[in-house]
Amino acid sequence: MNQKKRIALIAHDGKKKELLTWAMTNREILKNHDLCGTGTTGGLIAENTGLDVRRYKSGPLGGDQQIGALISTGDLDILIFFWDPMTAQPHDVDVKALLRMSVLYNVVVACNKASADYLISSPLFHNAYPDSDIDA
Ligand code: PGA
Repeated sequence: MNQKKRIALIAHDGKKKELLTWAMTNREILKNHDLCGTGTTGGLIAENTGLDVRRYKSGPLGGDQQIGALISTGDLDILIFFWDPMTAQPHDVDVKALLRMSVLYNVVVACNKASADYLISSPLFHNAYPDSDIDA
């Protein structure tokens, strides 16, 4: 994992505002990294922060799977995924698959604001980190 991280940003509808606020707060750090996200989340963050966010499909339309594919090919370092524990999702199986991929490939994951705060303030965030042992 290089110093410049490849970061995916995803939030379910009930959590989008929280992730947007987090991205605004951490804008100066995030601007130095490669950002991507699911369609709606990525668009929202790009429009409101001016950050460059590569957008994949909307989550329910396959965006979670596209980001899972990035993980399986070793093209993602960090997943910031504010999923909503209080709302059933039509693409629940995709959400589960994405979380499974992130654990399997030892990708750094934060699923809530406190974890995302710890993650982005860790000294490890700003340095290189040994790659996963998984044969990709
Ligand atoms: P969205 O997808 O950013 O397109 O809303 C998020 C998700 O539901 O996984």
